Amino acid sequence: MADIRVEHLTKTFGALRAVDDVSFAFPSGKVTCLLGPSGCGKTTLMRIIAGLEAQTAGAVYFGDHDVSRLSPSKRNIGMVFQYPVVYRGISVYRNIELPLQSMKLSRSERIRRVDEAIYLMGLTASAAQDVSKLDNGTRQKVAVAREVARQPQFILFDEPITNVDAASKLQLKRSLKELTRSLSQTIIYVTHDQTEAMTLADQIALMEEGKIVQCAPPRELYNHPADRFGGWFLGNPGMVFFTAALSGTDGARALASPLFPAPIAVSGATGEASDVTIGIRPEHIRLSADPLPGSVPAQVDRKTVQIGGQYLVALTVDGLANHGFKAKVAPSVGERLPASGPVHVALPLDQVSLFDAAGNRIAATLRPAGAPNRAQ
Ligand code: ATP
Repeated sequence: MADIRVEHLTKTFGALRAVDDVSFAFPSGKVTCLLGPSGCGKTTLMRIIAGLEAQTAGAVYFGDHDVSRLSPSKRNIGMVFQYPVVYRGISVYRNIELPLQSMKLSRSERIRRVDEAIYLMGLTASAAQDVSKLDNGTRQKVAVAREVARQPQFILFDEPITNVDAASKLQLKRSLKELTRSLSQTIIYVTHDQTEAMTLADQIALMEEGKIVQCAPPRELYNHPADRFGGWFLGNPGMVFFTAALSGTDGARALASPLFPAPIAVSGATGEASDVTIGIRPEHIRLSADPLPGSVPAQVDRKTVQIGGQYLVALTVDGLANHGFKAKVAPSVGERLPASGPVHVALPLDQVSLFDAAGNRIAATLRPAGAPNRAQ
């Protein structure tokens, strides 16, 4: 097993820097999802690693081996694309077996690998069927099984679920989840779909405008985004943001906002920051018809039911610069709230993130003024 490393990797298309000086290691035996909005450079980065695209500058290493100038076939990687690549007119079994015939394998090893890949991808029932007769989702499973059976050191997935019909998506995602858990290969999985990344990844490398801006296990990335972009991009809806004033000097800082009944003591924040941004996930905002500890009065403008029964509640708080925002609450809470009218809102301090003027996370601990500082 080996890791994949890229060093100062850059790809320009004219004036556009599709991949912008990326240095990063994809750890061996782990699933790393490259996640980011459309056009941020995920596919280009993956294609350079695969050798399908030449880099403008920088290098790609598989373990200690510089593969920057090797052709794709010499890199010994498996690739699964958006559209399933299968040989039509022949069976599932033969599709998986064919690439193995050019490898120097004993017949028994070949059969073992095909059977194992068929089993792993849940294709036993369709093994004898002609792939032309299968739906897109099952064809994609065949494409995955074929790469798995070759046992390359690395497997690269480029949005394999995106073009599969809605009915097969969930099933394919489940199969991929089981598969990636049982494989020991180094896997890079490109997706713009955060649910897919959250489900499949050991770690998510979040991309923005040609750069990897943060890499962390899914939960950590979700709970502690390194910048406002991560807060906004992840979540449905993403984090809500409010401007707030941070006053005082190191050791005695206070955060004031109409969202808090009294200034909040902040420890850990250093530097000159005065205008900061508060970020909180909509599902962490607490709402109640009656006052809560640390709550302020708010106004419900609208409430709508979401898939899954949660309520999305549009609110306003007097004195807030950017005024309206949305909270997401459990059905049991949402049902009891008025469709419009007064309510009480509280931001649990341990769920609040602070960002500086450049949008970068400020490592700080928040507590009600007067409460003991446990960080000290
Ligand atoms: P998507 O999810 O939409 O595929 P992505 O994050 O994978 O997006 P890329 O496909 O890598 O993004 O593209 C990154 C940028 O490079 C985009 O602005 C795209 O238009 C541009 N780009 C990609 N390939 C080429 C090319 N061959 N010629 C010119 N520009 C390109």
